[in-house]
Amino acid sequence: MHETGIAQSILDIAIKTALEKGAKKINNVAVKVGKMSAIDEASLRFAFDALKAETIAENATFEYIDIPLTGKCEDCGYESELEGYFVLCPKCSSGRVSILTGNELEIAYIDVD
Ligand SMILES: [Zn+2]
Repeated sequence: MHETGIAQSILDIAIKTALEKGAKKINNVAVKVGKMSAIDEASLRFAFDALKAETIAENATFEYIDIPLTGKCEDCGYESELEGYFVLCPKCSSGRVSILTGNELEIAYIDVD
């Protein structure tokens, strides 16, 4: 279950950031997860909750922000939500569609005291 390693990284970064700000506890950690990062939300939440015990994040809530896969057509400029990586532009049928969002796996923000 690779979510455990990801949850640990998220927690490490959140704690480091909080300590740098002189915070005593973390109230909330918001994470942006792109549709293509293949993360299971329930597993990630479970791992985060297990790992946060006895850290300054032990009472922190975990906010999961789902980022859809979107792309932009390089030929006509049309932007749309995509079903998968290999797509044709729905407007002009061009195959030159570049990914705008959907690969994210990062902390959006943390709330600390
Ligand atoms: Zn197009």
